[in-house]
Amino acid sequence: MPAETNFKILIVEDEADMLAGLRDNFEYEGYQVIAAKDGEEGLRRANGEKPDLVILDVMLPKMSGMEVCKKLRARSRVPILMLTARGQEIDKVAGLETGADDYVTKPFSIRELLARVKALLRRSDPGRQPIENYSFGSVTVDFTLHRATRNGKPLEFSTKELDLLRYFILHRGETLSRDRLLEDVWGYENYPTTRTVDTHVMKLRQKVEDDAAHPRFILTLHGTGYKFVGTGAN
Ligand code: CA
Repeated sequence: MPAETNFKILIVEDEADMLAGLRDNFEYEGYQVIAAKDGEEGLRRANGEKPDLVILDVMLPKMSGMEVCKKLRARSRVPILMLTARGQEIDKVAGLETGADDYVTKPFSIRELLARVKALLRRSDPGRQPIENYSFGSVTVDFTLHRATRNGKPLEFSTKELDLLRYFILHRGETLSRDRLLEDVWGYENYPTTRTVDTHVMKLRQKVEDDAAHPRFILTLHGTGYKFVGTGAN
């Protein structure tokens, strides 16, 4: 299991004091923390920034925690821990039915919350664990150091190219539509067009393929999207 410092946690909580307290504690434990103050922002950041785990308050402005959970679960397996108020038994049941992985009732001890988060991260699908490095063909990528080589020579990637390559690797063998790549790699926030996906794929191919015109790893599925077939080793 990678060090906890690799994990990015999204906290969706509208109470400023609670949010500040949680942020301090998780950052102190070495987590990277991103935050949202209402349901809509929470959903946007969850989709756009790919946290490793989401802590989701049930009572939120704009969109309830339940709604966020349901929408998030429809397309992602990110572990979700819900925060419910004491006595909200119905919320707990509904929360788990909505697809939450666990819940903690307010007021809670921070130690307990940290322990639950740790357990959820440990349990989460190994495919969701951050990949540290990966090799395919003559390419080796070190995602921790943002370094890659091909035939031993260094390759330069933009952050987005590296994000896209990581997504391809995590979803190798799957048919990935341009829309899905846009939503999952670019997120909702920047409104790029599907053309952006094609441009980035083209750049990636020039770097990782022996012959970008006849790709062996990042295949075009006409009318559908792309499929990465670079089998390799972590
Ligand atoms: Ca609240």
